[in-house]
Parts: sequence; C-alpha cells; structure tokens
Amino acid sequence: MNIAIIGGSKEETSTLQTLAEAPSVKMLCLAEGIGDKEFIELAKSLDIPVARDLKSLLKRTDIDIIIDLSGLEDIAHEIIENKPPRAEVIDRSTAHLICRLLDSESRATYDLIDKLTREHWSLYEIGISLSSAKDLSEVSKTIVQHAIRLTNTPAGSLAVYDEKSGEMYFAATLGFSPEMAAQHGWKLRPGGLTDYILNQNGPVVISNIEKHPKFNNPQLLKEGIRSLIACPLFLDSKVVGIIYIDDFKVREFNSRDISILCLFSAYAAIAIEKAKLLEDTKMLAITDDLTKLYNHRYFNQQLEAEVSRAERYKEPLSLIMLDIDHFKQYNDINGHVKGNEVLRQLANILRHECRASDAIARYGGEEFTVICPKAGKLKAYQLADRLREKIEAHDFPDAHTQPLGRITISAGVATYPEDTDDSLDLIEKADTGLYIAKRRGRNRVCAYPGLKSNVG
Ligand code: GH3
Ligand code: MG
Ligand code: MG
Repeated sequence: MNIAIIGGSKEETSTLQTLAEAPSVKMLCLAEGIGDKEFIELAKSLDIPVARDLKSLLKRTDIDIIIDLSGLEDIAHEIIENKPPRAEVIDRSTAHLICRLLDSESRATYDLIDKLTREHWSLYEIGISLSSAKDLSEVSKTIVQHAIRLTNTPAGSLAVYDEKSGEMYFAATLGFSPEMAAQHGWKLRPGGLTDYILNQNGPVVISNIEKHPKFNNPQLLKEGIRSLIACPLFLDSKVVGIIYIDDFKVREFNSRDISILCLFSAYAAIAIEKAKLLEDTKMLAITDDLTKLYNHRYFNQQLEAEVSRAERYKEPLSLIMLDIDHFKQYNDINGHVKGNEVLRQLANILRHECRASDAIARYGGEEFTVICPKAGKLKAYQLADRLREKIEAHDFPDAHTQPLGRITISAGVATYPEDTDDSLDLIEKADTGLYIAKRRGRNRVCAYPGLKSNVG
C-alpha cells in the first residue's frame, strides 16, 4: 500500500517509523515546507522521498492513502480538491489506529520468527545430542527430554518396539510415578490402544482423555494424565515406537506443538534405530551364536572386571567351570546336529537356574563357565550342584545313549580370595576342580582344592 504523509511534528516520529518499517507499507513521500523541519529530516534519514511542495506531491497518481497530519483546514481543503482520484485521505487519529495495528502485526511476526528460529536451533541441537548419545537408554532419555521441552509439557515417555519379542516397552519416562515407569512390556493387541495409535495417519492428539473412549483408561487417569499427544515413530514403514507427550490438565495443543513434534519424531526414529543397531552389533560381538550365552572373549574381560570389583568392595567371588560328560560319544552316536541341540537346551537350563547377576559363558566346545559375584565357596558349590541335578533330570534327546543313561556334567569351583587373588589362576583352579570331578567318576562337583565332592 502506497502512503504519503502531509505535515507532521516531532510527536509523530513513532508514527513515521512504524509506517516506514511495516513490510506491507510503501512510503511514497512527504511534502517539503509543511510540518516540522525535524520531522522532514527524519523522513529523509529513513530514505522516504520528500516532494518539493504539496502541489507536486498531490500530482502523484500512485498514492493509495494520504495521511494529513497538518491539522490545518486550508491544507485539508487543498488535499480534497487536488488529490489523485483513487487516494483516500485519513486524519491523525485514524493514522494512529493503523500504526497500532501495524505494531501488533509486526510484533506477532517477530514473535513467530523468534519462535521458528528457536525451534530450528532446538532441532539442530537435538540432532547433535542424539548422534552423540552412547546407547539406547541415553538416546531414549534425550528424546523424551527434548520432546517435553519443545512442546512445553510436564511429562512424557518413549515406548520402543522390540521386534524379537513383539512387545512395546518404556525405554524412558519423565514426570511419572515409579509404578508407571516400571510398567512391563506389552504386546501389540489388535484393536488395543497402541494398535489404534500406530494405525492413525500421524499423531493422535487428545485434549481431554476423559472424553475419549480409547484413552479413558484407569491407569492414565490414576497417573493424573488429562491430555496427550501420541506420535508414532516409523522407519521404512517399520514400527520403531511411540513418543507420548502428556499434561496433567485438559489442554488444547496448538498446531505448532504438533508439527514440531512430527518433525522431531523423524530424528528420533533414526536415532533409536541407530542405537538399536549399535547395541545389536555389540551384543553379537560378545555372545556365542549357538547358545546365545556370553563368548570366551567376553568371559575373560568380565572375570577380570569382576575380580577387580570384588577386590575393591572386599567381597568374595566364585567361578564355576562345567563340562558335559562323554559328549564325544553322544556326538558320535547321535550326530553333531543333535549335539548342538543338547548344547542349546543345556544353556537354557543354566540361564534359568543362575541369578541375574551371574555371568554365564560358553568357554569352549562343551565347556561352560559361571562367574558368581558376591558368592563364597559354599554358595557357588550349591549352585553348581543344583545345575548338575537339573541337567541330569532334564529330558535331553536320546540321552539313553550316554554311558550313565543321562546327559550329565562335571564341575569345578574356585573362589576369590580364598583360593587365589588372580583371575587367570582362578580359571586354573576351577579347571583343577573339574579335572578331579572327572577323575572321580563324573556327574559330580568338586570344589578346589578338592575338599568337597558331591556324587550324583
Ligand atoms: P569328558 O567326559 O572327559 O568330558 O568326555 P568328552 O567326550 O565330553 O570330552 P572330549 O573333550 O573328548 O570331547 C568333547 C566333545 O565335544 C568333542 C566334540 O564332539 C564335542 N563338541 C565340541 N564342540 C561342539 C559343538 O559345537 N557342537 C557339538 N555337537 N559337539 C561339540
Ligand atoms: Mg571338554
Ligand atoms: Mg566333556
């Protein structure tokens, strides 16, 4: 819109500035000789052209609006008489009103630009912090923290989908009770809440969960959640997880909250997949392919670390070494494939019977080790003997072909610091116990230095 100003005093400088800065306004000119000199000088400093006199200003045909700030009747009269036909004339108070509107428009534009710039930076920072996060748990925490910050909500969580188990589980939660955070994995049930979220084409936005039949669930209500956004995460059309953003009050989320969360979720999905891949690779490097127990290399590292830990905390630590009896014969009669199946089933028994803190490894072909932190000799001996019993009682395929009629194991036990304070020596001593158990007839446990021996 082309505007020309006629007249004006020092008090009108803000009007002139507002008009000059407004993107929707083009200032055409002022007229020399009418109004304060300072006002005219200001116009010149703002690069607004100044016409020689009122007559030449009114000759311009491109003026849309003439603002008459002169307050003089004869000037007003001359303007009306000689103005270009399409130009409208407005007075000081109307000009003030327009300036106020322009001010609020430019403030809103400024606020929007400021918000967009901050969001842009947030996303940039998020990209950096996600790519430097070390593991899935750290990536998950970072995702929830940023999602909450971007949407200005008090709580949120990240549910990650585990393809192997077909379950969703909370990888990170913020702002919730410990019970909610400790919730176990849940299966994707057709028609269930998670299934519903994943089947929407975009985020699910609920401003009042009490009014939504699917979300009106006792657990969410008990937690105090009243409104939420659930943003499904996909990568190559594979489910990665769901980001939940929650508020404890009824709330209308605005479209910017939703769109920034959508944009952010694309980063989040990639970061989660990358972290999962990295964990899978790390896991592959330390596990045995056949039994999925730890491998020999990891066992060595872990034993050294655990012995150092035991030393630091002045605690005992025991090592069990076990070996299948007459396994060569089993393989010779039943074949290698069945032998492998025995190894797998035996690994499952070990996994099932040992404590979560025990580290079980496949030491070699048909030899296994169990590191038992905080366990003295008696405790480890009892565990080894329970393993021996469970294995003897288990129905392995074609076990009748074995000399004892069952698949059995022999085991040796050695303890830090009672037998040695060196991790390599601990392996030697557990192996000595195993050797004695074999010599004494197999299917038994011998604790180094052979003080105890239990015959099955
Ligand atoms: P002992 O009671 O003295 O331990 O007798 P053993 O026959 O178990 O001992 P030996 O060391 O002579 O034989 C170990 C056998 O374990 C040799 C091999 O056939 C079998 N074995 C080792 N690794 C694997 C494996 O990965 N799969 C299968 N099926 N068999 C294996
Ligand atoms: Mg062996
Ligand atoms: Mg053997």
